[in-house]
Amino acid sequence: MARIFNFAAGPSTLPVETLQEAAAKMVDFENTGMSLIEMSHRGKVYEAVHNETIALIREILQVPENYHILFLQGGATLQFGMIPMAFLQQGMTADYILTGAWAKKACDDAKIIGTVNIPWDGKAEKYTRMPAQSELKLTPGAAYVHLCSNETIGGIQWQNFPDTGDVPLICDMSSDIMSRPLPWDKIDMVYAGAQKNLAPAGMALVIIKDSLAQKARKDLPAYLRYDQHIENNSLYNTPPSFIVWMTGLTMKWIKSIGGLAEIERRRSEKAGLLYNTIDQSGGYYKNPVDTASRSPMNIVWRLPSEELEEKFIKEAKKEGFDGLKGHRSVGGCRASVYNAMPVEGIRKLVDFMKNFKANNG
Ligand SMILES: *Cc1c(COP(=O)(O)O)cnc(C)c1O
Repeated sequence: MARIFNFAAGPSTLPVETLQEAAAKMVDFENTGMSLIEMSHRGKVYEAVHNETIALIREILQVPENYHILFLQGGATLQFGMIPMAFLQQGMTADYILTGAWAKKACDDAKIIGTVNIPWDGKAEKYTRMPAQSELKLTPGAAYVHLCSNETIGGIQWQNFPDTGDVPLICDMSSDIMSRPLPWDKIDMVYAGAQKNLAPAGMALVIIKDSLAQKARKDLPAYLRYDQHIENNSLYNTPPSFIVWMTGLTMKWIKSIGGLAEIERRRSEKAGLLYNTIDQSGGYYKNPVDTASRSPMNIVWRLPSEELEEKFIKEAKKEGFDGLKGHRSVGGCRASVYNAMPVEGIRKLVDFMKNFKANNG
């Protein structure tokens, strides 16, 4: 087996166990004589996989019973539009905290639908940090507050979720879902495109508190109705059955290694190794973001020149480290260090970084 270390931001590396298990069962799923992805989503076999995946997510993330777990198509991007369509009705305001490219995309969609307030905008500081609670100018009585818990491009993360009082808090967790336990007392809804920390692309995992779901508009086309999806256990129409299955396999892998506690331990070890290497490089590698907001999932850095960055990325690729090019909008380098990235991948990467500096310093 010749697996390289894949640092791509998404779609991204998956646990090899998830891939192997799917491959082993791809042609004949548990002696049914067909693949799971060929069979009816209304049958008992698929239904069991579907419900087991929901149960595993609930168990691992400790999702309270008054939250619904949904599998919706359209990725995180459809949620950008679905959320304001459902919850931002006439005469209401929604708060969108602007912390980078993804928060802004969500906000731009909401502006098409209704009235938006921006409680804080990190633009002047080039989106290099998350705000403190005291900096947020929240709208009393807002329909909801939206934030992006981890900015995949900028490399910053909310370490603590803000307190929004009675106003529901909705979080885009596309790039850090399943990387940490969540404070459910503060959060009313999370959503995440599957392709970063869960499974292949083609789905959004949505977890929504019942009290928020109750407020969703019903006079919308069928697929845009949260109540419809809840009522039908995400089986209103044909679900993305392959992605649901793969998500379940990744959940089993998380359980098998020790749950979120072990995920968090590995996450800290990996991020620590990489940030230390950057910090101890005498300014050769520079992480441009505020230390307290550093993301453990998407770690960005610059080299002394764009020429060196190009050379670094090229040589890294030859050594078996793929996907290290920063997002096209910002340049530089970025390592996406999702759950499935083994610690060994980071150990080898930091060795490479030290050697590269020694040879090109
Ligand atoms: C990747 C990403 C998205 C977009 O996800 P899609 O599933 O491609 O729609 C949205 N938000 C964040 C934070 C992301 O990282």
